[in-house]
Amino acid sequence: MKPTNSPLHPDFKLGVLGGGQLGKMLALAAGNWHLPLYVLDSDKDFPAARVTPFFTEGNFKDYNDVYQFGKRLDVLTIEIEHVNTEALHQLEKEGLTIHPSPGKLDIIKDKGAQKLFYQEKRIPTAPFQLFEDEQAVRLAIEKKAITFPFVQKTRTAGYDGRGVSVIRDANSLGDLLPGACLIEAQVEIDKELAVIVARNADGETRAFPAVEMEFNPEANLVEFLFCPAAITPELEAAAEKLAIQVAVDYDIYGLLAVELFLDKKGQLLVNEVAPRPHNSGHHTIDSCYTSQFEQHLRAVLNFPLGSTRMKAPSVMVNLLGAEGHTGPAVYQGMEDCLAIEGVHIHLYGKAITKPFRKMGHVTIVDESLEKAKDKARKVKALLKIVSG
Ligand code: ADP
Repeated sequence: MKPTNSPLHPDFKLGVLGGGQLGKMLALAAGNWHLPLYVLDSDKDFPAARVTPFFTEGNFKDYNDVYQFGKRLDVLTIEIEHVNTEALHQLEKEGLTIHPSPGKLDIIKDKGAQKLFYQEKRIPTAPFQLFEDEQAVRLAIEKKAITFPFVQKTRTAGYDGRGVSVIRDANSLGDLLPGACLIEAQVEIDKELAVIVARNADGETRAFPAVEMEFNPEANLVEFLFCPAAITPELEAAAEKLAIQVAVDYDIYGLLAVELFLDKKGQLLVNEVAPRPHNSGHHTIDSCYTSQFEQHLRAVLNFPLGSTRMKAPSVMVNLLGAEGHTGPAVYQGMEDCLAIEGVHIHLYGKAITKPFRKMGHVTIVDESLEKAKDKARKVKALLKIVSG
């Protein structure tokens, strides 16, 4: 390796596509090592711009913007999957180190390709079929090739539950989404779990403890997240093993967040993955020996991976914009929450709040999960994000 290619050399350049909250928290972690993080996103008012001066305004979906940005870098990573991978393929050909690699990103960006990958690798996942469009789905229903209830997912551009529709019976066919999609059997879910795995180029692999997610049924967004998950040690070990297997099968370096369903029969099924820091790992900043953001940096830079041990049980609460409020964000109840022991508030600094927009998160650590849950309910009731 050339000395200037060492991440510890002052000229070394690590870049990330996306400057939202994940980019911001990556830049904060990079700051601990005084490592500059170069960020590409469309607006200097975005969260990451506050904490890194190396912010380039541009569109991560645009070939030229991504290519020009990448040309200046030694290593490039992402905080969002929906980026221009054609430019990444070109940069990779020209020798740039990119984690996750663009070929893997092409699979992960397309939920249909992801499911085919799990099928090919014999990774347990809910049974599925792929369709060209809504018409093809209706035809398959007429031919009884699909039975109710089922879950429809658009193949691309789904995010935070927006590309997912649960079709219970013939009366709800009006909820079918347009475009290429996959149809999945509806799983009888006991718990929704996630395991974040890190891999580096030296072949080291580590999993964070499994977390349990509780969703806001209206917004289809994670509302509470518990660590550790209330599962047996055998299931914990099985969940970590499965997540590591998925990361190894993808051959991904960096983080891979693996979302799992535990069904009512006790089976673990892979739902989907994200090759980057993930909402289900935010608690690690305050509750684990190494945060997911530092771990991602370690993994993409091929440093030794950090310990994933828990320092304390924790609950993470997503701070979602209050219903009925759109406009400049005002935070109510901050001081009351700050007075509670073990409460760590992380605000992303988004100027405008909207109903259910992710505006921040709070991690509550305590000596027991039950105590942390009590405090999390208080925080949820106290802290509100409204428009001013
Ligand atoms: P997104 O990419 O938008 O997060 P997901 O595929 O994770 O979409 O689905 C969002 C949520 O929908 C899941 O967390 C789960 O609650 C529910 N869901 C998704 N697939 C199924 C399924 N096959 N059976 C039952 N519920 C599902």
